[in-house]
Amino acid sequence: MFSRKDKILVAVSGGKDSMALWYILVKLGYNADGLFIKLGHDYQVNHTYEKIKKLAKELERPLVIEDATKYLYGLSTFEAARILKRPTCSFCGIVKRYLMNKAAVENGYDALVTGHNLDDEAAVLFGNILHWHTGYITRSYPVLEKTHEKFVKKAKPLVLNYEEHIKLYAEKRGIGFLPTACPFSIGATSKVYKNVIHQLENEQKGIILSFYLGYLREKEKIFKIEENTPELHSCEVCGYPTTAKVCSFCRIREKLKSKIEKQQIEKSNT
Ligand SMILES: [Zn+2]
Repeated sequence: MFSRKDKILVAVSGGKDSMALWYILVKLGYNADGLFIKLGHDYQVNHTYEKIKKLAKELERPLVIEDATKYLYGLSTFEAARILKRPTCSFCGIVKRYLMNKAAVENGYDALVTGHNLDDEAAVLFGNILHWHTGYITRSYPVLEKTHEKFVKKAKPLVLNYEEHIKLYAEKRGIGFLPTACPFSIGATSKVYKNVIHQLENEQKGIILSFYLGYLREKEKIFKIEENTPELHSCEVCGYPTTAKVCSFCRIREKLKSKIEKQQIEKSNT
């Protein structure tokens, strides 16, 4: 995935997986800094930020901060998603993915790593297989190489670790993570798939790991990675890679801007 010479940026959300990942990489001697994406202004966001800052201090590593509200005309991702009538989770995902990559590219990192665990990845894979989203299946591979000058290499080092083992590790090491999941993820489809694979795991111990290992082993034979990889070019607005003319992040910003302007005109007319 990367070497000890690489400059690594760890996307930290305040949850057990990303906090444990940052801790593990630093303890193993990797050159790993943290990245916090500020998604709003409320108490929960500030509380998360304090927890992450505390870990940065303990690890004696720098923390890169990227403020999403700055790009969303001062709105939180939740408020912006509501105005655009988009599902919060997928909207937040677009914003986070864009800003994580941007922060890594602009600050000269060799790789961006995230704390996705085995349960997360197996649930997503399971859902994508149910719907035969082969494009998503190939793109959710745990290592994505750099394929564009403004696209940093991405890796998920905890992908073979069960969620409950990571939680246990974080607790044993006294890492102060946030116990609750994002309040907006309640009812997300991925949770349904996660419940299903957990039921299977209860019946057949180890099935989640063998399912995921099977994917890593068989993916090239089954999914023909190269043929399915869409060609990337630079977004006409921001220059970051996209498969379309204008990237989804810039399209969101454009729509949001016109919605806000429309609301302001309506307000001034009443
Ligand atoms: Zn763009």
